[in-house]
Amino acid sequence: MKVSRFTQVALVLLFMASLANAQRPQNQVIDFAIAPQQGASINLNQQCQVPPNSEAEFVAFFLVVEGNDLDQLHSPGSHGTVGPTAIQYRSKSSQSSWGRWFDLPPGSHSEVSPFKLVSELVFLDRKTSAVECRIQTSNPPGNINVNRLLFNFFSPKAVVPNLNNPNHFESGGARGGLNCPLPPYVTRTGWGCPDGQSPSCNPPAYTTVSHLIVHHSAGANSSSNWAGIVLSYWNYHTNGNGWCDIGYNWLIDANGLLYEGRGGGDNVRGAHMCAHNTYTMGLCVMGTYMTVLPTNPALDMLTQLLAWKSTKEGINPVASSWHSPSAVTLPHIAGHRDGCSPGYTSCPGNLLHAHLPTVRTDVEAFINGGCSSCALNTTVTSNFNSGVHTYKASGTLDANNDISGTADVTYQGGTLVKMNMGFKVLPGATFKANLSGCN
Ligand SMILES: [Zn+2]
Repeated sequence: MKVSRFTQVALVLLFMASLANAQRPQNQVIDFAIAPQQGASINLNQQCQVPPNSEAEFVAFFLVVEGNDLDQLHSPGSHGTVGPTAIQYRSKSSQSSWGRWFDLPPGSHSEVSPFKLVSELVFLDRKTSAVECRIQTSNPPGNINVNRLLFNFFSPKAVVPNLNNPNHFESGGARGGLNCPLPPYVTRTGWGCPDGQSPSCNPPAYTTVSHLIVHHSAGANSSSNWAGIVLSYWNYHTNGNGWCDIGYNWLIDANGLLYEGRGGGDNVRGAHMCAHNTYTMGLCVMGTYMTVLPTNPALDMLTQLLAWKSTKEGINPVASSWHSPSAVTLPHIAGHRDGCSPGYTSCPGNLLHAHLPTVRTDVEAFINGGCSSCALNTTVTSNFNSGVHTYKASGTLDANNDISGTADVTYQGGTLVKMNMGFKVLPGATFKANLSGCN
């Protein structure tokens, strides 16, 4: 049988498509239509088995509740925190009994709707075999009606971005000519976005940017699979919130690695600040920063990213101006909560929010210093023993006091450097490392 060239091409494309589908993790939904429960007092429990996925690094889980008047579950102050209605979950592995109950509040980045409530995204151990959710109202303002629960599970296998492959790791400097360079970042392809470099929104919307909005993800603070976490937020925002793409423009992990978020390139309008997204860029430091700060590498990357955008758009990082979608005078570097109604969300976490004044002055100082990540000034506040310390610099050590020793410096991913310091610095000492080999 003669196979036409067209058929050959079609078969190859079909094969490639089937490969892509085989690798594409699926959001698995277990759907419970339940007898409608209505009233001021609701007490619901539902258990389900977690779909097996032997390759999973973790199980990303969120609950969708459908019904009527569900906006009452988002009472003031409860968006992203726990209100008078408790939605909780617990989990177990096949080898263990049920763990303790955890709060599962409405997502801090999902819309308030009378018909649908999307919980926060939580990350469960890969061995989790079953999940139970319960909804217990205690004095909501009026009747609510719940008639459907959807348990959503997403289990990406480990995605390791190849930092040497330009398809996976694009040097921001290549976009160049700016006062401060865009730091290197992991592209959408690099974190395994099912749509790759193509925008998931058709067509993507664009905006001029005057305000830079800082978020936390309210998720896990550590992971061995950050690319998989980014992919899980893409899934959560598209299949949970119903958005066309991941909401954030940029994401930063605890190692200080930067990830491209919403597709479409610079100035694409994201979805991240209570529908007040016009004139903003949204960046998310992954983790929960209510009582702890992000890691130093993450804060360093935050500074570099904000400095790039500030210089590119002529934004004064320490000033404020009127932001018409929010109808408030908003700091140019603001937290998510600053652009929403009071109590709407705790994002970007109490401690990171309190740290924003320092972030603003850090960005200003970084710009005024010529955007150099080659110099490090730090005050040592505790015994600084020999060992590997991670900094954003590389090169020779130039101490400004009596420090002597050697530094074994490793350049990592364009932003991080490991200095294996062969000396000890006493508390209160200040040292400066001038570094070569960085841009
Ligand atoms: Zn936020």
